[in-house]
Amino acid sequence: MSLDASTPSKATPPPAQRRRVSVLGATGSVGQSTLDLLSRSTDAFEVVALTGHSNVTLLAEQAKASCAKLAVIGDAARYGELKAALTGTGIRCAAGPEALVEAAAEPADCVMAAIMGAAGLRPTFEAARQGRRVALANKECLVSAGDIFINAIAAAGTELVPVDSEHSAAFQAIAGSDPSGIERITLTASGGPFRTWSLEQIEAARPEQALKHPNWSMGRKITIDSATLMNKGLELIEAFHLFPVSIAQLDVVVHPQSIIHCLVSYTDGSVMAQLGCPDMRTPIAFSLAWPRRMAAPTERLDLVKLGSMTFEAPDEVRFPCLGIARAALIKGGSAPAILNAANEIAVDAFLEKGLGFLQIAHLVSDVIEAADVRGLARPPAGLEDVLAVDAESRQLARTMLRAYV
Ligand code: NDP
Ligand code: MG
Repeated sequence: MSLDASTPSKATPPPAQRRRVSVLGATGSVGQSTLDLLSRSTDAFEVVALTGHSNVTLLAEQAKASCAKLAVIGDAARYGELKAALTGTGIRCAAGPEALVEAAAEPADCVMAAIMGAAGLRPTFEAARQGRRVALANKECLVSAGDIFINAIAAAGTELVPVDSEHSAAFQAIAGSDPSGIERITLTASGGPFRTWSLEQIEAARPEQALKHPNWSMGRKITIDSATLMNKGLELIEAFHLFPVSIAQLDVVVHPQSIIHCLVSYTDGSVMAQLGCPDMRTPIAFSLAWPRRMAAPTERLDLVKLGSMTFEAPDEVRFPCLGIARAALIKGGSAPAILNAANEIAVDAFLEKGLGFLQIAHLVSDVIEAADVRGLARPPAGLEDVLAVDAESRQLARTMLRAYV
C-alpha cells in the first residue's frame, strides 16, 4: 500500500474554514519553521496543541504567541516549570510521554509530526488513528514501522503528506500521474560537509565539523545523518513505503547545490523534478496547505544567479551508511528498526562520547548483525513489537558501544 498523491480525502476541510494544526516537536527545527509559517497565515490556520521535550521556555513562548489551546512537555520533571510559565494564560498544560500521545489526539485537522527519532512513533501513530492529516517529518515512523504505519493511515481513511524535502518533491512530481508509469525515483543528497574529504580526513572528523551542513539548517541528529549519508539511507526506506516502487527503482544522486530535491522518471522517458532553494519552509508549507498552496517567505530560485547544477554518484566507501541502510531495507522485517535504533545511539555517542565518525557505520552494522542472531530482525507484528525491538536494539547498541569508546 502506498501513498496516493492525487486525491485529497475527507481530512481536507473546505477552504473557508481555518485549518486546526497541532505541532509535535514544536521546539525543534521543523517545529519552529512550522510555527513561523502558521504565524504568517493566521487567517487560514489556528494552532491547537504544541509539544516539546526539554525546552520549556521556548514551548511556553510559542504557546502564548500562537494562542495554542494545549502545551505538553515530554520530560515530566519539567511540568512545574511549564505550569508556572503558562499561569494566567488559559493555556492547558501537561507533561510526560502519555500526554504527548494525548496532544496528538486533540481535535485538529492536521498534525505536524516533527518529534526527533523513535520517540515520535507513539504520538504520530495516535494522530493517524484519530484520522488527523499527518504532515510527516518524523521519518522514523516509516523507517521503523513502515507497513504498519501506512496501514494505520489507510485504516483511518486519512492523509499522509510527507515533509521531508525529497519526499515532498516526489509527492509533487507524482501527483496526478499514473503510478504504474513510474520507472524510477531518484533522491538527491547534498553530500554533506565531507563530500570532498579523503577517507583519512573523514576518519578524524569532529562533531563541530560534522554539524556544519553546507546547505540546510536542521536539528543536530539529522545533520550528523546528513554527514554520514545515513539520512539518505533512511530516506530510501521512507520512499519505499511512501511510493509505489520496488527497492530496485530507488536511486540516490549527489547534488551539492540542493536545488533539485527529487526526480521521478516515467516509462515514456519523461523526468519530473521539483526544485527550490533549500529551506524546509517550502515542503512544510506544502504539507500544511495541500491541496492548496500557501505563501512561504523563502528565497526565490534564480537560475541565472545559480548558473549551474552538478551531480555525482554517492561514494559508499567513504560513506558506508548508505549501503548499510539499503541492505537493511532489502533484508526487511525489523532490520530497518534495528538500523534506526543503533544509529540514534551511535550518533549520540559521536556527539557526546567520543565515538569516531566512521565508527558510527561500524557500530550500526555490528548491532544489526548481533540483533539478527538474537532473532530481533523478525517482521514486527504491530507498533508494540516495533517499540520492543527498538528498545532491545538500543540496549544492544549501548552494550556494544563499550568496545568502541
Ligand atoms: P530537532 O532536534 O531540531 O527537534 C526535535 C524535536 O523533538 C524538539 O521539539 C524536541 O524537544 C523534541 N524531542 C526530542 N526528543 C524527544 C523525546 N524523547 N520525546 C518527545 N519529544 C522529543 O529535530 P528536527 O526538527 O531537525 O527533526 C525532527 C524530525 O524531522 C526528525 O525525525 C527528522 O529526521 C525530520 N526531518 C527534519 C528535517 C530538518 O530540516 N530539520 C528535514 C527532514 C526531516 P526539545 O527541543 O524541547 O528538547
Ligand atoms: Mg530529506
